[in-house]
Amino acid sequence: MGKPTLAVWKFASCDGCQLTLLDCEDELLALAGEITIAHFLEASSAVVPGPYDVSLVEGSITTPADERRIHEIREQSRVLVAIGACATAGGIQALRNFADVREFTSVVYARPEYIDTLATSTPASEHVRVDFELRGCPIDRGQLLETLCALLAGREPATPRTSVCTE
Ligand code: SF4
Repeated sequence: MGKPTLAVWKFASCDGCQLTLLDCEDELLALAGEITIAHFLEASSAVVPGPYDVSLVEGSITTPADERRIHEIREQSRVLVAIGACATAGGIQALRNFADVREFTSVVYARPEYIDTLATSTPASEHVRVDFELRGCPIDRGQLLETLCALLAGREPATPRTSVCTE
């Protein structure tokens, strides 16, 4: 049997949560011996086609293309983990949810008609089934490593399943 495969995907985000994974350095090297990192464009242009055992999803869904892509990723992933405030709650981009995004694009872009965007910024879970969520901005390195090790070993991660916030 081959090594389990890990894929990392970016949507609208600052890349900070992916950097948390890269910052794991020693642990990531050890992990890399046990798994195939099949898709992680922040670290390598090499891409192994799916399906994938574990997908980490960073960023919020903000464009029609994002909507299509998150469904494709879900279909390709045995376990999907949303990482960070952008992927779990819409992130700072979700401020647009309380305003008219067309007004913003008309102010920011010289040719707003070329901008194909959604009226809202939403978490992955509003579009597809999400198996685990890691909260934080950025995510906690210890929780990320625990989640990856547990999932790749076939056990339940020992991480919080709910937010510390009650609202
Ligand atoms: Fe960046 Fe924070 Fe979004 Fe992570 S949750 S991608 S650190 S803005």
